[in-house]
Amino acid sequence: MEEPMNGMKPQDQSDIRYNNTKMILNIIKAAHGIARSDLAKLTGMSATSMTRIVNELLELNLVQETSFSSGGIGRKSILLEIKKDVFYVVGIDFAERDISVCVMDFSGAVIGKKVISRTTASSLKIEEMIRFIYQNYQKLLQEFKVKEELVAAIGVGAIGSIDREKGLVRYEELTHTHNIPIKELIESVFKRPAFIDNDIKCAIVAENTFGEVPNLDDVVMLSFGRGVGSAIINRGRIVRGCTNTAGEIGHTIVDFSDGRLCICGRRGCLSSYLMEENIIEEARKSNSSICSIADIMECYEKNFLWAISLVDRITNYMTIAINNAVNYLNPRNLVLGGKLINDNPILYDMALKKYSGMISFSTLHPTTHISPSKLSRDAVCIGGALVAQEKHMLKMIKMPNEFIESR
Ligand SMILES: [Zn+2]
Repeated sequence: MEEPMNGMKPQDQSDIRYNNTKMILNIIKAAHGIARSDLAKLTGMSATSMTRIVNELLELNLVQETSFSSGGIGRKSILLEIKKDVFYVVGIDFAERDISVCVMDFSGAVIGKKVISRTTASSLKIEEMIRFIYQNYQKLLQEFKVKEELVAAIGVGAIGSIDREKGLVRYEELTHTHNIPIKELIESVFKRPAFIDNDIKCAIVAENTFGEVPNLDDVVMLSFGRGVGSAIINRGRIVRGCTNTAGEIGHTIVDFSDGRLCICGRRGCLSSYLMEENIIEEARKSNSSICSIADIMECYEKNFLWAISLVDRITNYMTIAINNAVNYLNPRNLVLGGKLINDNPILYDMALKKYSGMISFSTLHPTTHISPSKLSRDAVCIGGALVAQEKHMLKMIKMPNEFIESR
């Protein structure tokens, strides 16, 4: 249970009840079937409190009881397990090139996923794009035999500065678009509550749930995508800053005097050296036929000197990002993800080797465990679905009568 800290709102009774309920649900989920007696031991809760919560979860249909023979003639044990199909949620990764849509059941399993190329839909206005996503989502539901009425909520991960309350992308740097009302547009087409957050903040939720070392209180994710971004979980909560843009490590300045122009309008930002188009532009100075990072990596594999030099520079800037994140935030765990790394594991290896080889008198470095993203390109989509699941679960647990009476 999280203790109130200075400057943080103390938890009220309904928060405590929700956290206890969530803890019980997580244990039941992880155990794939558990007896009430074992549940009581694991939670350390009183039998009365635990029974009250379990009964409410049974009433809400979030868990079910199954009996099985436990040895000895006629001996039956009752286990509690998650009711996987009680409701489904949808995650959408509103990425720059591809839009991924996934459907998740209540156990957290991804039932199905579709990837929509934005080049196919590039001529569409945002409203048409949402309808196009909806059509693909309906096909996905049909394909995996999920009834649309069982879909409870939609979670969206999008690039840029996000106003979660209003459901807006305040500013999308790549296309220089202001105030895109994603939540409103999705809700009007999907007819379901929608929740939106920054893509890397969604990804860290997914990595922290299903990644290499799940359920950590203290983790940072660095994402090397088209530029660089990060997300921070501290004491089990996402660090958001005052406008939900904490973690924009890509716009930390690494070259003040004569830096490269960044999409934010300043010079010398870290992202400007790792932006995909800038890397390609650099490569084209040596070989005008280069069109992609894959082309550069192919030339690197063939030992072209210019490609070796460029990859060296790319991994230098990646190492700067890792070093700055570790020193500034001192996380216990650092997850490295994003398209650049997901598609080119060699860059991960090189950056990590450089980072490990840096001369350091600091005692901070060895305490941070660094690992690659486990969910890779699915992290944002899965994170979006988890955000939606959490929001719907919160509503069910805080207002149970609405859901019990509706059945
Ligand atoms: Zn910038």
